[in-house]
Amino acid sequence: MRLSRFHLATVKEVPADAEIISHKLMLRAGMIRKLAAGIYTWSPLGLRVLRRVETIVREEMNRAGAVELLMPSIQPQELWEETGRWQKFGGQLLKIKDRKEAGYCYGPTHEEVVTDFARHELKSYKQLPINFYQIQTKFRDEIRPRFGIMRAREFLMKDAYSFHVDAESLAAEYRNMYDTYTRIFTRLGLRFRAVDADTGAIGGSASHEFHVLADSGEDAIVFSSGSDYAANVEKAEALAPTGTRPAATATLETVDTPTQKTIEEVSAHLGVAAERCIKTILVRGSDGLVALCVRGDHEVNEVKAARLAEMPGESVLAEEAEIERAIGCKPGFIGPVGLPADMPVIVDRDAALLADFVCGANADGKHLRGVNWERDARITRVVDLRKVVEGDTAPDGNGTLSFARGIEVGHVFQLGSKYAEALGATVLDDQGKATVMSMGCYGIGVSRIVAAAIEQNNDEAGILWPEAMAPWQVVICPINMAQSAAVREEAERLYEELGARGIEVALDDRGLRPGPMFADAELIGIPHRIVIGDRGLAAGTYEYRRRGEAENRSLSRDELLALFD
Ligand code: ATP
Ligand code: MG
Repeated sequence: MRLSRFHLATVKEVPADAEIISHKLMLRAGMIRKLAAGIYTWSPLGLRVLRRVETIVREEMNRAGAVELLMPSIQPQELWEETGRWQKFGGQLLKIKDRKEAGYCYGPTHEEVVTDFARHELKSYKQLPINFYQIQTKFRDEIRPRFGIMRAREFLMKDAYSFHVDAESLAAEYRNMYDTYTRIFTRLGLRFRAVDADTGAIGGSASHEFHVLADSGEDAIVFSSGSDYAANVEKAEALAPTGTRPAATATLETVDTPTQKTIEEVSAHLGVAAERCIKTILVRGSDGLVALCVRGDHEVNEVKAARLAEMPGESVLAEEAEIERAIGCKPGFIGPVGLPADMPVIVDRDAALLADFVCGANADGKHLRGVNWERDARITRVVDLRKVVEGDTAPDGNGTLSFARGIEVGHVFQLGSKYAEALGATVLDDQGKATVMSMGCYGIGVSRIVAAAIEQNNDEAGILWPEAMAPWQVVICPINMAQSAAVREEAERLYEELGARGIEVALDDRGLRPGPMFADAELIGIPHRIVIGDRGLAAGTYEYRRRGEAENRSLSRDELLALFD
């Protein structure tokens, strides 16, 4: 590409709303331009990078045996009514009306459409397993679109959906996709981790997220120092504590804590460590309020709470008025002693091991000291209820847990028969009997990967693309091209020669001074820079610099070309 004929539009100033480095650099490099909140144009430069990602994703999906199709982005309301998601999907679903007042949505995902396709196309187990994928624009009306294309409203996703006659076949394809994702992110040159993920409201059995590791990541993940255990913080199990509860020794007494509501305040006031206190919260169960107890130094994990049999599938804190009505105190003074007999008391495993502990007295301005389970407070059930903390032993017993930040770039999960069931997608099995198909689904945030890669690869001068994602591999910078025919001719010759080797080369023939020309090349992150000047040509040398290295190398033509063999 001759840059004089390209549209390179780097800028110095970054809009104030760009918070993270990838957003800033994408704007400065002129890769994206904002049209509306969470809606961006990909400039020619940005698109070159996006296409590189897309190509690798497509190649690896094809290699894995998946077959590409393209589904519409506009989807009819009736289909979403069939799965119940027209209502359930929530505010992220952009609903549209056509001129006949018929309802549609702009697809945020394609389970409905692909399952509709499958119920018409697939008749026999002999057509299975099959994995359909597409690379297509999605729209999700995110509450807080931010960080540029990292969390956009319109974005590019690769989504794949596999169909199976049984669970074994689904598990095998899930493994195949897991391995394929590992290959894709490795080829892209990213530092990533596959983590055991919570399936949340989607349901299903196995689920993994692929996270690019970066401090700016929105997701907290935990991993073990001693094994390959890694999980989404929401899903991470705490290791079951060993040991038994000590016998009660203290007598129960009420203490005044007129203004002390938080565990920190209470523990400081009474001189008792937080891990010797019990923290109790009340949440809305399916059938009245539920008390959840964890140790004072721990936090309730809302995902674990939502999964309790007493809960309606989500964990919502009771409001102050509800708490006052149920137990007669403000939220800072709740405790497990003397709760209404029909209120379930769910206790975390570590909390259940405490004896002689401190907790709220269910009366304003009061706490209890010397409290003991069973003797003073009833336990309905002991479960894993808390968030893991750094330094916890890993659940597999190997090593301790550390936290890291991640950017979710891919997600695989076993959906099971949920959508096939709702839409009546069956095939005849080998006995001639109609069987509901099992499904897996596998997403990759193609556009998000571009931002995630920049988060991992940048310096003061700009982007440092992993080779596989760079808009061009090489940039040729001729010095004083307008004045020197020799420079011009050699620049052209080298440009043609490298191009003929299948290398993507940018020739910076815009006639810029060296400073701005180099600054652009560094900002947009081209891995290899070749400078051609009269002085070098006279000596038969070229100035070469690898992006990210501090020094130029003076190379002969042969040495230079050998870099690209
Ligand atoms: P997130 O938790 O980040 O909102 P998600 O779990 O809702 O994502 P999935 O339904 O798993 O997303 O979609 C598959 C992939 O699409 C994600 O792994 C992510 O890489 C990408 N993606 C999802 N939402 C967005 C968005 N708003 N902008 C850019 N990429 C997105
Ligand atoms: Mg996800």
